[in-house]
Amino acid sequence: MPIHLLVVDDEPDFEFLLCQRFKKRIQDGDYDIIFARNGKQALKILESHSEIDIILTDINMPEMDGFTFLDKVNEKYKSIKAVVITAYGDMENIRMAMNRGAFDFITKPIDFEDLEITIGKTFLEVKEIKEGIQAKDDVIRAISDKVKAEKSEQIKQQFLANMSHEIRTPMNSIVGMTDLLRRLDPRPDQSKYLNAIAASADNLLVIINDILDLSKIEAGKLQIKKTTVNIREILDEIAGLFKVKTEEKKLKLKVRVGNDVPEMINSDPVRLKQILGNLISNAVKFTDNGSVEVLAEVSIPAEKEKKLILTVKDSGIGISPTHINNIFESFSQIESLKTDKNRGTGLGLAICKQLVELLDGRISVESSLDNGSSFSIEFVIREHQLENINLSRDADQLCEAMSNLKVLLVEDNAFNVIVAKDFLENELDDIHVDVANNGMEAIEKFMSSDYSVVLMDLQMPVMDGYEAVRKIRHLEGGKRPTPIIAMTASAEAEERNKCLDSGMDDYIPKPFDIDVLLRKIAGVVN
Ligand code: ADP
Repeated sequence: MPIHLLVVDDEPDFEFLLCQRFKKRIQDGDYDIIFARNGKQALKILESHSEIDIILTDINMPEMDGFTFLDKVNEKYKSIKAVVITAYGDMENIRMAMNRGAFDFITKPIDFEDLEITIGKTFLEVKEIKEGIQAKDDVIRAISDKVKAEKSEQIKQQFLANMSHEIRTPMNSIVGMTDLLRRLDPRPDQSKYLNAIAASADNLLVIINDILDLSKIEAGKLQIKKTTVNIREILDEIAGLFKVKTEEKKLKLKVRVGNDVPEMINSDPVRLKQILGNLISNAVKFTDNGSVEVLAEVSIPAEKEKKLILTVKDSGIGISPTHINNIFESFSQIESLKTDKNRGTGLGLAICKQLVELLDGRISVESSLDNGSSFSIEFVIREHQLENINLSRDADQLCEAMSNLKVLLVEDNAFNVIVAKDFLENELDDIHVDVANNGMEAIEKFMSSDYSVVLMDLQMPVMDGYEAVRKIRHLEGGKRPTPIIAMTASAEAEERNKCLDSGMDDYIPKPFDIDVLLRKIAGVVN
């Protein structure tokens, strides 16, 4: 890269002389020189030649002198350095030029060797300034890129959260009303359609949850909440969910827990159930004969820490060696298996792997075609003392414990009002449900009556659930607070804490399960 010089001098002889003396340097591409006759012309050239590094300028020139020119350069072109050319001994002009930001000076008659050294020295300075400006620009750009990326990630998260909420709200009506219809003794053909609606709605929910989970994991936003968990209970509970399905397919479903498996371990029960649920669901899906086994064992390799190994083993179609390598990647499905029966998102195992890793564990698979598959997850365990376990009461006992309830249902979606109201009225005797369509109505109703429990939707027009709860708690003053359970279509983990912080007693996500709702109501009213 040549050094770009702008020479400003009104003497045509000087141009000629300079070209002669620097002929070789110009030919070799060391210098690239542009000439101007005065400051005015030079400023014009600067406007269109951003590559100029150094200005060599005379002082006494027509139209615009060197000082005015230097002022303008100083103002506009911070990275260009100027060297002034003055008469020998003209200290006054040299001093004035230096005060106006000139970097150096050279006197006439010109010593061209000296000029070359001065150009070299000046260029080093210019280079440093340009690099500094570039580095600063790079930092500014990097910061702005980061801010943009964070902003777009935030928008994506918000969009996913909104989408999830928007999808869950109508899903609550679909799932709930289908369930209500199934309880009304439908004809066999009607039952068939209702079962199909229920199965499709369940599938859709799984897909929504998968997409949301994966995007949260990728954004590092998925929170792991470890607590003491009873591993036997978790395995029984999760296997229980597949009882009907395995019976339908005439598969044996076995749960075996080794004697040395500790009663309690420290883990995140929600995520553990999600992982096991995914693995068992796949095992059942891809097995047509034989069995699905869920095993819990402890391995104690001599020098290492104690590990809990949970294995889901099936006698199904197995996995080919080519497919097994990328089985834990997103959207990994065997092309030939994408039949209606086996349809899925191809996200389940990718989520399992990420969740296992978030729980500091490891997932692995052993399988071959036609010989079944065996998925194992292993965690280092630290034993916990057996804690008192609050055995959940069965549904009948729960219903008995809740007679004569007066419920305030706060919900703006008319369909979801029907779902919640009809469920409660079907399940509980002597129940009275009042409905408010927003927070404001809820407060009015709350002030004119005594309620056993308030079921509060969160996002509502006029006044949202949080605001309503704050106002209700304020109105109660010192009085014994009325239990309030939030009902929300938001699947955000933070939402739960927000509800508890704003003074609510419990939280149930929509679409809700009536047994869970009953248990939660029993938990707060007694
Ligand atoms: P999907 O939602 O499609 O089931 P997964 O990530 O859970 O997504 O599984 C990806 C693919 O891995 C499945 O489509 C299937 O081809 C294969 N697979 C997973 N589990 C098993 C299993 N137990 N037996 C055979 N193939 C399996």
